[in-house]
Amino acid sequence: MPCELTSDGMPGHVTHRGTTQTVEATGARRGDGSGESLAVSVRGLRKAYGTVEALRGVDLDIAVGQIFALLGPNGAGKTTTVEILEGYRSRDAGEVEVLGCDPESARSLLRPRVGIVFQSTGVEPYLTVRETVTMYASLYPRQRSVDEVIEVVGLGEKRDERVVRLSGGQQRRLEMAIALVGDPDLLFLDEPTTGFDPAARREAWEVVRNLAALGKTVVLTTHYMDEAQYLADRVVVISAGQVVAEGPPSTLGLRESKGVRIRYRPPSGSEPPPSLGGMTTVDGFVEVSVDDPVVALHDLTGWAIERGLALEGLEVIRPSLEDVYLALTRQTDGGADL
Ligand code: ATP
Repeated sequence: MPCELTSDGMPGHVTHRGTTQTVEATGARRGDGSGESLAVSVRGLRKAYGTVEALRGVDLDIAVGQIFALLGPNGAGKTTTVEILEGYRSRDAGEVEVLGCDPESARSLLRPRVGIVFQSTGVEPYLTVRETVTMYASLYPRQRSVDEVIEVVGLGEKRDERVVRLSGGQQRRLEMAIALVGDPDLLFLDEPTTGFDPAARREAWEVVRNLAALGKTVVLTTHYMDEAQYLADRVVVISAGQVVAEGPPSTLGLRESKGVRIRYRPPSGSEPPPSLGGMTTVDGFVEVSVDDPVVALHDLTGWAIERGLALEGLEVIRPSLEDVYLALTRQTDGGADL
C-alpha cells in the first residue's frame, strides 16, 4: 500500500497523482485468516548497537483497537522496539508497518496519527491545564475537543490549575491529554503508572480503558504484571531481543493448564487419596500439583463424598501472570522450566 496522506493529515486518504482517494486507514491484515486489520505489523526486526544485539528477529502483530502490552526485563529490547515503531530509531533489518506506513521513511506522515506519552515531557509549568492542551491542539491538523480530552483523562476539576501545581500522577494524565488531543489512531504509553500510588494507578487504568473505548490502538510498556493483566487484550514478552511468549494475559504460557495446584485441608485423622499425593503444609493443608485439574478434582471430591468428609478451603490455584512471566524470562537465561 502507498503511504501518502493528504496535507490535512487525515487518515484514510492518499494523494495519488493529484487526486485524493479513500483507502483503508491501516495496512496489513493478520495472516491467520481472521482478516483482522493490523495497526502494527513487524517481521524479522533486528537492531544492534555495536556488538550488542538488542533485537534478534522480532515479529509482532497489533490489531486495530487493541490494548497491547510489551513486557520484558530490563535490557530486553522494549524501548528499542517502541522507538523503531515510533520512527525515532532506525532498524538494521526487518519489515515494519505502522498504520500502513514504514515509520522510518514516513515519520512526518505518521506524526499526526500517532500519540506518544513519554515518562516525562517538558510542558510549560505556568500555563493552566486547559491552556496547555489548547496549545498542543493547535499543532495538529485534526483535533479532539480540548474539554472532552481533559474529561477523558480525569482532569476536569483541574482544568484551570497551573501545571506546576499538579501532582506527578496528574502531570502524567496531562501528558495523556496532550497525546490524545490530536486524535491519534495509535497511542504509545511508556510505563504509564510508574511511581503512582495504588489509587492513582487504578484511576490511570480507567483512563487507558477510556482511550480504548474511543477506538484507539494502545501500545503499552510496563513492568507491572497486574497492569498488563487488567488492561491488555494481548501481551508479548520479549527477553534478550526475542519474543518468548505472546497471547492474551489469561492464557499466556499455557497458564490455564500448566502448573495448576490443588489445595485443601483434609479432616484430621483422614488419609487423603494416595493417588493424588501432595505435600502437607504446616497449617495442615495438602497442596498438590496436577496436570489435569478436572480429573484430579473428580478423584478428590469423589473420595471425600464417599466418606462424608469436608474438604476445608478447597481451591484450584493457577500460576499468576507474574509467575509465568518470571519463568519465561528465566528460561531465556538458561533457567528453570515453567
Ligand atoms: P528497560 O526495561 O531497562 O527500559 P528495554 O527492554 O527497554 O529495557 P532497550 O533499552 O531496548 O531495553 O535496550 C536493549 C539493549 O540494547 C540493552 O542491552 C541496552 O543496553 C542496549 N542499548 C539500548 N540503547 C542503546 C544505545 N543507544 N547504545 C548502545 N546500547 C544500547
